[in-house]
Amino acid sequence: MSAPLRLRLDGDALAANWRRLAKMSGGAACGAAVKADGYGLGARAVVERLVREGCRDFFVATWDEAEALGAMPEGCALSVLHGVRDEDMAVAIRSIARPVLNSPEQAARWRPTGRPCDAMADTGINRLGLQPEDAGLLAGLNLETLMSHLACADEDSAMNARQRDALAALDVPAKRKSLANSAGICLGEGFAFDLTRPGLALYGGVPRAEAHGHVAQVAFPEAQVVQRRRVPAGESIGYGATFIAQADIEVAILNIGYADGYLRAFAGAGTAGRGRFPVLGRVSMDLIAVGIDAEPTLGEGDWVAIDYSLPGAARASGLSQYELLTVLGQRFERVWS
Ligand SMILES: *Cc1c(COP(=O)(O)O)cnc(C)c1O
Repeated sequence: MSAPLRLRLDGDALAANWRRLAKMSGGAACGAAVKADGYGLGARAVVERLVREGCRDFFVATWDEAEALGAMPEGCALSVLHGVRDEDMAVAIRSIARPVLNSPEQAARWRPTGRPCDAMADTGINRLGLQPEDAGLLAGLNLETLMSHLACADEDSAMNARQRDALAALDVPAKRKSLANSAGICLGEGFAFDLTRPGLALYGGVPRAEAHGHVAQVAFPEAQVVQRRRVPAGESIGYGATFIAQADIEVAILNIGYADGYLRAFAGAGTAGRGRFPVLGRVSMDLIAVGIDAEPTLGEGDWVAIDYSLPGAARASGLSQYELLTVLGQRFERVWS
């Protein structure tokens, strides 16, 4: 069986992006966020490729994700960012993964195990993490990494330095400190501490202007032509008849739609074939129409590359680069090169 749509995944680009981020992390170790199934690319495949480059620290959100990854390669650490619930404890105690303790409740839950853990301090994002004044609750825990997370790393905000200074000031018996996500790495070595945690930029996202030209696209959606047709002048295409042909035009119907994560935001805005084929009319659940006047021979069964450079696709659709990756659906065959 072969699916009529595929996600071509460039393993060399992934590896090069990690090496670049590791270099930008200076003396800090560089890890990898592989939550949400490796931002939609396939977490296991990402881990295996990055381990070969020297990556040793990985991050998922939940214990389900940790379990789904399977056995970690020798010498690798896995941290579960959402910490540990009562209902996770049986799995967590047997796992080599470490919970990232976020609250007094989680710290109290983990303390009796005596097992290794990480902790998250909230230095201003007010999302997950212990308040700095509760840092004393971490005393006596077997603490590997103390983390915090930046709220505005993709902007030039005064909050960045404040959060950096707040983490630096925390006197907690952890072996390492960690603050920077992809955008945080771009802020400079003062933000790297001992360990960085990039996600988006590994997968081809450009988190800040400084990263432009340094991050390579990793995920390339491609769809097969189901049917080629001629649409006469004056006729419409697709649901709602929102597109009306001004002249006779050549159209390819492609096997991709919003159920695959190619969302309706691309209607009238997306392109394929390196800008040559505009998306015409609405995006259907399983199909789109593209104009192919420029391509006289394209026909049934041919593969068309959907334009999906993350910064460009984000501009066209109004979706974030994060959303563009994590919505990509299960009908794609994921093919690594
Ligand atoms: C998702 C996540 C990251 C990775 O962030 P990117 O912006 O994708 O680089 C790092 N740290 C934490 C705590 C996260 O939740």
